[in-house]
Amino acid sequence: MEKYIIPHNFSVTKKRRSALKNHVAFLIWFTGLSGSGKSTIANELEKALFEKEIHTYLLDGDNVRKGLNNNLSFSPEDRSENIRRIAEVANLMIDAGLVVIASFVSPYKEDRENVKRIVGYDNFVEVFVNTPIEECERRDVKGLYAKARAGEIKNFTGINAPYEAPTVPDVEIDTTMVSVEEAVALILSAINRRFKM
Ligand code: ADP
Repeated sequence: MEKYIIPHNFSVTKKRRSALKNHVAFLIWFTGLSGSGKSTIANELEKALFEKEIHTYLLDGDNVRKGLNNNLSFSPEDRSENIRRIAEVANLMIDAGLVVIASFVSPYKEDRENVKRIVGYDNFVEVFVNTPIEECERRDVKGLYAKARAGEIKNFTGINAPYEAPTVPDVEIDTTMVSVEEAVALILSAINRRFKM
């Protein structure tokens, strides 16, 4: 079938959409354990970008799993498919001219590599929220660590499923050392250096 799928060349291009919006489009990918602070920092980052009149969209684990990916489990295969679909959605949004912020545990290195391949290495900024697991578990924002420890949740990252840490993230944040405001400032300066925005 695939040989009969021939993409059309449309006249309004990514470049033209970006020019209209006055900024480049790319993806900021947050990875880290549950409760590490990804969504909290992503939310403040989106607010800061919005105030600078940058067009954004935030994709977050729970909202995507309630809709687009509501047929997927937390098995390694389904986690990979979850991340692949998110990357394809992010890729469309980049094409639409948006700065996309994605907040997903995304524990497997290979899945994150796949995201980079899909959106393109030049469009990808990796933020590793490296909060120690003891602190994530102490926070236990959603009560999930307690449930995982009690054996009620299988495949819970950090407890009974692995987390493969990025080796060279663009930004690394330990939220026991860095405040939310400082984390946002670090990310903004990294994207300013990369994209001159
Ligand atoms: P995740 O999205 O990684 O699962 P959340 O952002 O939902 O994590 O939860 C992180 C929790 O940690 C929140 O309750 C937040 O208020 C708290 N927290 C404390 N200090 C920080 C910090 N410096 N950065 C981010 N979150 C922090």
